[in-house]
Amino acid sequence: MNSDRLPAILATLAADTQLWGDFVALCDCGGRRAGSASERAALDLAHTLLAAIDRGARVEPVSYAGWRCSEATLSIEGGGALTCNPLLGSESTVPQGISSDVIDLGRGTPEQFELRARDIAGRCVLVRHEYPFSAVHLHRRRKYGWALERGAAGFIIANPFPGAGPVSGSSGRGGQAGIPAVAIDFESAARLAANGSRLPRVCLKVMGEDYAAETGVVVLELPAQTDSWVVLSAHLDGHELAESAMDNATGVTVALAVARALAPQIARCRRGLKICLFSAEEWALAGSRQYLDRMSELERKAIALNVNLDTVGGDTHLTALISEFPRLDGFVRGAAAQVGIALDTYRPMMANSDHYNFARHGIPALRLVAGFGRPESNVRHILTRSDTRDKVALPELKSAATLTASLLWRALTAGDDEIARLK
Ligand SMILES: [Zn+2]
Repeated sequence: MNSDRLPAILATLAADTQLWGDFVALCDCGGRRAGSASERAALDLAHTLLAAIDRGARVEPVSYAGWRCSEATLSIEGGGALTCNPLLGSESTVPQGISSDVIDLGRGTPEQFELRARDIAGRCVLVRHEYPFSAVHLHRRRKYGWALERGAAGFIIANPFPGAGPVSGSSGRGGQAGIPAVAIDFESAARLAANGSRLPRVCLKVMGEDYAAETGVVVLELPAQTDSWVVLSAHLDGHELAESAMDNATGVTVALAVARALAPQIARCRRGLKICLFSAEEWALAGSRQYLDRMSELERKAIALNVNLDTVGGDTHLTALISEFPRLDGFVRGAAAQVGIALDTYRPMMANSDHYNFARHGIPALRLVAGFGRPESNVRHILTRSDTRDKVALPELKSAATLTASLLWRALTAGDDEIARLK
């Protein structure tokens, strides 16, 4: 293995003066919601930054089920307006809005849905948002699915933290049939609860429009000695409540810095490095799904490993989510040990970022994430108005970059047998 060149690569990375500037520039684009001018600016910026590494950088178009919203309101009947942020792709109501009782299912576990199964049809279901990076987390889209299955009239998800505003996220509807879905803040949920034994009644109005949307994947291919590739990915889109700083300006920034440091070395490696900066990740992983699905079987077979960076700042501790590829465990631990960085691994498949679309096709894939199992960390602010640059510290980005470089270097230079065993 060419581990002799790793110290020089790490030295280049440590001397990179662009890291923080890139991060700030991405945050300056705004929340980067797919379909917005802010996302377009981020795509252009990412393209420019990758093209500065190699002129071959390009933007490949991908389509997704787009959606725009002209109005979303929620009010307690006779009690005034509540905070309301529509989930991406929410189904619309009738123009005058729907009037419905609200049934509070607490956290919204399968047991809580089961217990109240008979009370759900025709009512709005209220559940709570959860810290997304933990072994016990129940994803919003699963709760939405259970509400839909049982005939709920609407889906309301509340931020469990006071003073933090509503959350954001996708309904996952993707242009199919669904139910209106909105997020509210802690205080609004408290007002819905304060109604004694009588179910609170709300008026919910969502006026949205589906459309065939197009965005891009910013791609840079740095070829090597064989036609095998290691893919480094990160999503550049986000939500409009804030700057999407942790999720995921951090991942894009680190990917760019690592690409800069590795680029001059790739030609001599066993495998090439492909950088993919996806969009429409927040739309149920739509961008990477199409990108992977339309590849030929041969092209997918040529990918040795996907390293996906999503939310790699906001906490000092990194975890590799290794998507049920058991041999990735030793592989990533070895790479972390080589640079003296503590790293945990988590084996179960987590369909919470673009690595999933690689793993789904049998490609060894992992997501590096900060704050896994650490709900007290700054990462708790993602998907809210507080996902801002002040939650991220430069040493966190540097540490993630060092670890990523070590991991990629190992994958780029390992023997074919070691790579074959990862599958
Ligand atoms: Zn993300």
